[in-house]
Amino acid sequence: MFEAERITYRNFWLEQALAEEGDPAPAPPLESERRCDIAIVGGGYTGLWTAIDLKRRDPSLDVVLIEKEICGWGGSGRNAGYLLNM
Ligand SMILES: Cc1cc2nc3c(=O)[nH]c(=O)nc-3n(C[C@H](O)[C@H](O)[C@H](O)COP(=O)(O)OP(=O)(O)OC[C@H]3O[C@@H](n4cnc5c(N)ncnc54)[C@H](O)[C@@H]3O)c2cc1C
Repeated sequence: MFEAERITYRNFWLEQALAEEGDPAPAPPLESERRCDIAIVGGGYTGLWTAIDLKRRDPSLDVVLIEKEICGWGGSGRNAGYLLNM
């Protein structure tokens, strides 16, 4: 069975954006229990837009987004940028 190679390098725009920010230290890992109204797993387009939309609809919501690498690590930070009218 095919096993995907694990990507270990950052994409170009993340490298560039983080360099412009002075290469900030990674966010600390979640090490204890955290309660919230809504937990979102994954900081790609889907997770980030869901979080933004939820907060727009109800700013009082406690929304927590958990990302295992860095937001934009997955396909959202590595795509070709095509917008197709389908
Ligand atoms: C090479 C390539 C080119 C593409 N080109 C285009 C294009 O031109 N136009 C277009 O519209 N679409 C394109 N796409 C598709 C588009 O990029 C994806 O559909 C979209 O980015 C998916 O977003 P997502 O938020 O669902 O997933 P992702 O961006 O993959 O985000 C998921 C996130 O979840 C995190 N995660 C995973 N597991 C866990 C866990 N257990 N705990 C915490 N975090 C976790 C990952 O690190 C990642 O950051 C392309 C995709 C690829 C790979």
